[in-house]
Amino acid sequence: MEERKMICISCPIGCHLTVTEENGEYVVEGNQCKRGEVYGKKEMTDPTRVVPTTVKIRGARLRRLPVKTHIPLSKPLIFEAMKLINMVEVEAPVKVGDIVIENILDTGVNIVATRSMKRVE
Ligand code: SF4
Repeated sequence: MEERKMICISCPIGCHLTVTEENGEYVVEGNQCKRGEVYGKKEMTDPTRVVPTTVKIRGARLRRLPVKTHIPLSKPLIFEAMKLINMVEVEAPVKVGDIVIENILDTGVNIVATRSMKRVE
């Protein structure tokens, strides 16, 4: 039997969850709603996170462009994904939602811009 304590990050309430695994079945306690149960089970089987970060940008007023994964990325892949993200340099102009890296690590997850940046000469 495995037991883990965690905080649900699905909403600002932050319920303290206890997830117990026995014979492949997961029981979540401490959640105030169904989302907490889903979150607790996913944390035990396939934890994922939206990754907010920045990439280099040329030709804009700022030197870094804020980006994020368009959907949550498997947690064990975040370190490898960050190595690729850190190698990228984009060219202004960029619009919010533009894909900076498509299908990173063959996961189906795109890295997208989270703000627009105009070109400055
Ligand atoms: S269990 Fe429900 S109420 Fe509690 S933090 Fe998660 S989403 Fe919010």
